[in-house]
Amino acid sequence: MSSIPKVKIGSFTLILTALFLLALLLSACNREEEQASAGDVAPVAADLVLINGGIYTVDAQRNWAEAAAIRDGRFVAVGDNAEIASYIGPQTRTIDLSGKMALPGFHDAHVHPTMGGYALLGCDLASEASVEAIIVKVSACAAESGDGWLEGHAFDLALFGQDGPHKSLLDAIETDRPIILWGSDGHNAWANSRALELVGITADTADPALGVIERDPDGSPSGTLRETAQELVRAAMPPLTLESNVEALEEGIRHLNSLGITSYIDAWVGLEDYQSYQAIDRAGKLTARVVTSLTYESGFAKHYGDEFDQVLAGRGQFASERLSHESVKLFLDGVLEGETAALLEPYVGMHGHRGELILSAEELAAAVTKFDAMGLQVHMHAIGDGAVRAGLDAIEAARRQNGASDNRHHISHLQLIHVDDIERFSSLDTAANFQALWALPDNWIMELNLPVLGEERVQGMYPVASVERAGGRIVGGSDWNVSSANPLDAIEVAIRRQDWLADDGPVLNENERVSLGTMVDAYTINAAWLMHQEDKAGSIEAGKSADIAILDSNLFEIPATGISDVRVLLTLLDGEIVYAAEMD
Ligand SMILES: [Zn+2]
Repeated sequence: MSSIPKVKIGSFTLILTALFLLALLLSACNREEEQASAGDVAPVAADLVLINGGIYTVDAQRNWAEAAAIRDGRFVAVGDNAEIASYIGPQTRTIDLSGKMALPGFHDAHVHPTMGGYALLGCDLASEASVEAIIVKVSACAAESGDGWLEGHAFDLALFGQDGPHKSLLDAIETDRPIILWGSDGHNAWANSRALELVGITADTADPALGVIERDPDGSPSGTLRETAQELVRAAMPPLTLESNVEALEEGIRHLNSLGITSYIDAWVGLEDYQSYQAIDRAGKLTARVVTSLTYESGFAKHYGDEFDQVLAGRGQFASERLSHESVKLFLDGVLEGETAALLEPYVGMHGHRGELILSAEELAAAVTKFDAMGLQVHMHAIGDGAVRAGLDAIEAARRQNGASDNRHHISHLQLIHVDDIERFSSLDTAANFQALWALPDNWIMELNLPVLGEERVQGMYPVASVERAGGRIVGGSDWNVSSANPLDAIEVAIRRQDWLADDGPVLNENERVSLGTMVDAYTINAAWLMHQEDKAGSIEAGKSADIAILDSNLFEIPATGISDVRVLLTLLDGEIVYAAEMD
C-alpha cells in the first residue's frame, strides 16, 4: 500500500438496456449438426462465440474485429462474423455483442485486494465525504450485530486539520465497543478512548520509532495514530485468521472482476497471503491471474532476515497456473504529504530537509542485485525523485553485475521523476507503473504538496507522456483500496489530467496527457508483459486465453469525460464468466 488517498467514486447505478441483457443470455444454437463431408476442413466447433462486436484486439496492429471463437478457454479465431460463423456448432453458445465493445481483460499492476476486501466486507467509509457522514456511518456499523472491536476502513484524512481527528467524536457514539478507523492512505488511524485504553496507550506511552501518537495539550493521546503507531493497535487486536483473510480476498477479487479485471499484481504480500491464495486456488475460486510481490521492506517493519528468506524460498509450493510469486516488493521512501518522500532537492522552507531513503543506496543496490540474480522481479514503491533515481541506479547496478535479464523490474507511483531520469525507464527496460488516477490538481497536490514543492515540481508530477515519448513502457495500477480500483477512472484522468468526477476544471500539466490507446495498452498488453504473461493474455488473438471485458460503450467513440461512466457488462477469464452485471 502506499501513498495518496483520493476521494473514491460513489456507488453508481447501472443502466442497462433490456435489449442488451436479452442478447447476453447465453443460448445454444439450435442448428442441425453440420456433417463435414469428406474433404471438408470445417473447423471444430467452438464452445463460445462473440459476434456483432466492436472488439479491440490490442494485437500488434491494434486491429478491430467483429467476432471471436473460443474453445477450451482459448481464442481459436478472431475475425468478422462470416469467418466466425463456421465455428458455430450445435453446442456453441453465442454472445451477441450488439455493437458493444469488447477488449482484453484489464490488468491492474498494483493493487491490494485483501485490504480492499476487508473494507468492502466491513465498515467501509471510503464514500463518506464529511465528518458528520463518517460518524453516522460508524454509528450504524456499531449498532449492527457484533461485539468486540469495530473496525472502519478508508476514512478521508483530508477532512481533518493538521492534528488529525479526535477521539471525542467517536466517544460520542453510543457503544461500549473499541473503535479503530483506518485512513484511506494507510498512514493514519483514528481510535476511540475505549480502544486506546485496551491497547494501553496513555500520556506516558512514548512514540514508537517512525510513528506518532498525536496528543492533547495535557499529553494524553488525542485519538490520531500515525505510521508505526497504528501497529500498536493491530498488535492488540485478535489476529486475522486464514478463514477471514480468504473471505476478504475472495471479496476483493469479486470487486476486481466486476471492473473487468482478469489479471493483477498484489503489491504487498506475506506468507499468510500465499496461504490464502493457495486456499482459494485449490477451491477453484481464483478468478484472476495473479503475480504477488513479497514485501522485503515496508518502512513499518523490516521483513528481511531469516523469516523473509524462508518464505521466499518456499514460494514455489504456493504457485500454480494462475499464481506466480516470482516478485519482491521494496519500499524506497514514504509520501510527500508527511514530507517523507525522498527528494533530490530540499522541500521548500524546511531547512534543507529532503526526506530520506528507507534503504541506503548501497543497501538497495545490494538487495536488487541479489534478487535480480535469483531471477526475481523487483517491484519498487518510489514517490520522490530521489527515490526514483535510487531505484533506477539500483537496477543499473544489478545489470552491471548480473548482465541483462528478463526479470522485468518496475517502479510504482512515480510522483516525481527528475528530467534526467526520464529516459532511463527505456534504457534500463524498467516499466513505469503509474497510478494515473492521482494525476490531477486536487487538494492533496494543490494544498499539501504545492507549498513544500513549488510550482515547477508540481507541474512535473506524474510525467506519463514524457516517459512514453522517451520510449518507456507505461503500465497502469490502481493501488486500491487507497483509491478507486476502476481502470476506467484512471484511464480518464490520464487522458484529461482533470478530476474525473467533473466535466471541466483545472488541469495538471496538459503536456503530460496521453492517448486512450496508450492507456488501454497500459492496462492490457503492457501489464501482461510485466506479469510475464504476454504470450497468453493481454490481447485478443488466436491461441491466447479468452480473458475479456465487455463494456456498455465504445471508449473510442465517446468523449474522454464519459470514460469513467462506462460500465462493465461481462468479464470472462479462460472463456468462463467471472462477472455479469445485474440490472437494478
Ligand atoms: Zn500500494
